[in-house]
Amino acid sequence: MDRAPRSRPSPGAAAVAGPLVVVSNRLPFRAERSGGRLHFTRSPGGLVSALEPVLRERGGVWVGWPGIPREDLERAAADLPGDPNVRYEPVPLSAHEVGQFYGAFSNRTLWPLFHYFVGTTRIDATAWRAYDAVNARFAERAAAFARSGALVWVHDYQLLRTPQHLRHLVPDARVALFLHIPFPATDVFRVLPWSRLILRGMLGADVVGFQVESYADHFLGAAARLLGCDVDRGTRRIEYDGRTISVTADPISIDAEYITRLAERTGPRARHGEHPLEILGVDRLDYTKGIHERLLAVERLLERWPEYRRRIVFTQLMVPSRERVAEYSDLKRQIDETVGRINGRFSEGGWAPIRYLVRSLPPEELVPLYRSADVAMVTPLRDGMNLVAKEYVMAQVSLTGVLVLSELAGAAEELQEALVVNPFDVDAVAAALHRALSMPADERQARMSALRDRVRTHDVHAWVRDFLAETDRAALRVAPDATPVEQVKRRLLPWLSGRPSVTVFLDYDGTLTPIVPRPEDATLSRAARAALAQAARNPALDVVIVSGRSLDDVKARVGVAGITYVGDHGFQIEGPGVALHHDGLERYRDVVERAADRLEAMAVPGAQVERKAATVSYHVRRVDEDARADAVRRAEQTLRRLRLRVTHGKMVVEGRPPLDWHKGQAVLYVLTQRYGANWPSRTRALYIGDDVTDEDAFQSLRGIGRSIHVSEAAPSSTSVADYRLPDPAAVIQLVRWLGAGAFTSPSG
Ligand code: UDP
Repeated sequence: MDRAPRSRPSPGAAAVAGPLVVVSNRLPFRAERSGGRLHFTRSPGGLVSALEPVLRERGGVWVGWPGIPREDLERAAADLPGDPNVRYEPVPLSAHEVGQFYGAFSNRTLWPLFHYFVGTTRIDATAWRAYDAVNARFAERAAAFARSGALVWVHDYQLLRTPQHLRHLVPDARVALFLHIPFPATDVFRVLPWSRLILRGMLGADVVGFQVESYADHFLGAAARLLGCDVDRGTRRIEYDGRTISVTADPISIDAEYITRLAERTGPRARHGEHPLEILGVDRLDYTKGIHERLLAVERLLERWPEYRRRIVFTQLMVPSRERVAEYSDLKRQIDETVGRINGRFSEGGWAPIRYLVRSLPPEELVPLYRSADVAMVTPLRDGMNLVAKEYVMAQVSLTGVLVLSELAGAAEELQEALVVNPFDVDAVAAALHRALSMPADERQARMSALRDRVRTHDVHAWVRDFLAETDRAALRVAPDATPVEQVKRRLLPWLSGRPSVTVFLDYDGTLTPIVPRPEDATLSRAARAALAQAARNPALDVVIVSGRSLDDVKARVGVAGITYVGDHGFQIEGPGVALHHDGLERYRDVVERAADRLEAMAVPGAQVERKAATVSYHVRRVDEDARADAVRRAEQTLRRLRLRVTHGKMVVEGRPPLDWHKGQAVLYVLTQRYGANWPSRTRALYIGDDVTDEDAFQSLRGIGRSIHVSEAAPSSTSVADYRLPDPAAVIQLVRWLGAGAFTSPSG
């Protein structure tokens, strides 16, 4: 919330380079209307005071909603604060859009759900659509800067779809996302009908940062379970859409030095014998903060330990928040009633146990409260981090206070020297309060100094530096630090390991041999044959060659015994324990022959007709470029007139029987014949191919096997295959690795 703007160089700024674009729901200033004009005052918090120096040094842009409706923005645009090195880029939103995107979807759907308030979560499709559309708008604003190579850093739950929209607009953008609130366990997250779309949105980033490890783990779990992504929990990487996404846990922090300085300025509190012990709570008025439960714990303290009556004062500072949302006004009413009831029950002789302030204090007034509090109660029912806990620690310059901290706040992962409690357990919180109030000075000092050291070294500047360093490392990883074969091996390993067998399907032309002008010249290299022969000898490996060529042709070309051959796009199969001569072969033999005759009769110079048992191929690679399109069109017509199915390959048109049979079905046939209907639990099926006709096999194995598209271009966006290898040489390397059985050992 409020924090005086300051500027000093960030210690992290030197380590990172290139412009930075921060994208957040709000720009770092507030608009107020006075005298008929809008005035902007900067409203940076700890985050802003950490980001602005980095933005200034790297040069940057801050994209966000300026806090005023679109209608007012045009008139006020000239008054927006500026900085020579930082450009503020307002995203105009109408009042209605803000209501739907922010008021409804962000705060009545994502906020409660991500804080485990499932019953409070609204499911509203209109609000969802507005959220997605507004997120796209933020992406559009950031896209221009992303194109010029800037790192785009998107913040928080209001913008979870923005990274994907940005990736769509600028495929090679550098994008980081940090979620400031918790990320819930999958079974809670999937309550959201749009959970998969939210995940895809987030996975548009290269780096996704969370406050603590458990949120990062939940995200990895959701990506694996809901999207079926390959997830490496050890290195915290997710494979998605041909990219590797890094997931990090980096707890956000405060400007520790600033709080310390303010606290020192305050001076120690004068203690008189009769001075009450001060207990403090500071929160936004929010149902996640556990304010009501905290009041009950204070009541329990006074019941169980009556000696504290007249000796303590509990001050609860509450900052009004989201007042238009019904849950918040209901909560306010409930708190008012409970404060009244407890004060009514225990007040005596001018003393009341609870003091209650509803307002927002500037740091200059808040920090003295922190400094003088004997105990701070930070007991949210769920909180992404909780900065009040860290601020209290840094304000405790005389090491006298005790922090009582909820184990359900992210801050508890770092602040273990606090008295950590379950905020729902009123008795336990009351007991912790008693312990805090009666704690010997030595113990208080020991705990507080340990806490202070941790917060001081992990302040918000260190957080920005660490997170940006992580995005730099991710950018390096995206650059090929490993060969394509190494990358594919790394992705295949977790999937392959522990399985008794692997069935590897290999297309021939373009996969095992380079594409050549004349198909008859596509011969297998000695190295490739040796790799296949070695693979064939491995009992854990089942090798299947799948080709559009005739069975005899492909068998002769590969010439490795003991493996399975699939010819004629799947119409003929021969191998150990499996044989197929599809009945369509005989039925269509004459038609295919006739088609071949007619194609030959076209007599196009350079064109070549290849007759196979069930199919006919019309090769146009050597046809004059000007005449090629026409030759293809005429061949298509000829084949269609004979009611053959027409497919296109690389420089080839093929006619085959109009039967629902293709490479994909042949692959499933081989697997079922050899391993039974439950083959997915008995073998791992991997298909490697380069041609359009291989897409049928990629499709058949989607979700139950894996596929690799052999293609120079990255990403091979038209293919549905899981991975890519650039050329046959890379395929042979992978076959050699599979043949050596390296995948069966855990280390690979
Ligand atoms: N805060 C403030 N004035 C107040 C009360 C709180 O500026 O009167 C600030 C406080 O210093 C802290 C922030 O509000 O930086 C609250 O952050 P926290 O992470 O604890 O909770 P959030 O409101 O983000 O859920």
